[in-house]
Amino acid sequence: MSQKVIILGSGPAGLTAALYAARANLQPLVIEGAEAGGQLTLTTLVENYPGFPDGLQGPDLIQVMRQQAERFGAKYLKGDATAVDLGRSPVTVTVEQEVLETKALIIATGASANLLGLESERRLLGHGVSTCATCDGFFFRDQEVAVVGGGDSAMEEATFLTKFATKVTVIHRRDKLRASKIMQDRALKNPKIGFLWNRAVEEILDPEQGKVTAIRTRVNGSPKSETLPCDGVFIAIGHSPNTRLFAGQLEMDERGYIVTHGGTKTSAPGIFAAGDVQDHVYRQAITAAGSGCMAAMDAERYLEHLG
Ligand code: NAP
Repeated sequence: MSQKVIILGSGPAGLTAALYAARANLQPLVIEGAEAGGQLTLTTLVENYPGFPDGLQGPDLIQVMRQQAERFGAKYLKGDATAVDLGRSPVTVTVEQEVLETKALIIATGASANLLGLESERRLLGHGVSTCATCDGFFFRDQEVAVVGGGDSAMEEATFLTKFATKVTVIHRRDKLRASKIMQDRALKNPKIGFLWNRAVEEILDPEQGKVTAIRTRVNGSPKSETLPCDGVFIAIGHSPNTRLFAGQLEMDERGYIVTHGGTKTSAPGIFAAGDVQDHVYRQAITAAGSGCMAAMDAERYLEHLG
């Protein structure tokens, strides 16, 4: 069956696109993706989403957005899109074994956590190495952990982890944090958080034991490595867009973000992109939601022109 609009992704961009498309009577189908709800489901308190003066939990924000779009007729399909053909009309989207057709497609597949690229990190992922303090922080009660990174995510994770860990050490590759002033201040003032500056992570120990026992770092320019004993390592060094599915079919920038023109239009007709998949500058829940709204309105106009 052919859809009017399919939305790939169920973070704030996808769900806001679903709300607007549903209210435009386009009966959108949202393919939720393997990580339904996106990055907000991996976060704790969201204090900067307008309309919630006391803040709210990331997963709760996703839940209410989902309900709101559903109320106007949005439908949800669990699972991941495994293939798309954007060169034909209607375009096709394969979800598991099923091939769906749609006149307009909104891509809101977001971004995923980057890793350092160490073999030891790969082997210990899920065994003491994590990219999500909200998901795994609880396992480090009364233990010592390290957080790698100097952005808002690193500060947020470090601060959150002090609820469980006895000591949190932030390891950053420069001597200045990238994080916003308020997040920096919060982390710098926290007596449980220490900082190691100008460091490259060389290795996470000890894959042979199947658990994290320490992290080995080196001060930039120094020949000597230092080992910090710890029980867990949280990697918080940014994200990359989830665009592999569209490689060769859409214009992307050198970092793999989808290029949009005049709102949310991509290089292919009838294909729109919203949220972190096309934005490496703002990357906020509210900006993602805003561009989701734009994508639904752009899709609506496109369908109107099609007739
Ligand atoms: P980010 O701002 O890009 O920061 C990434 C950090 O990781 C930087 O400090 C960077 O170092 C470091 N880094 C990158 N690659 C590295 C590598 N290979 N080895 C070691 N360190 C590396 O990413 P983010 O912190 O995930 O934040 C992303 C966006 O989400 C931002 O716009 C942020 O404001 C937003 N955010 C907001 C909140 C909130 O307001 N509650 C919470 C989380 C995230 P350099 O500084 O040297 O580049």
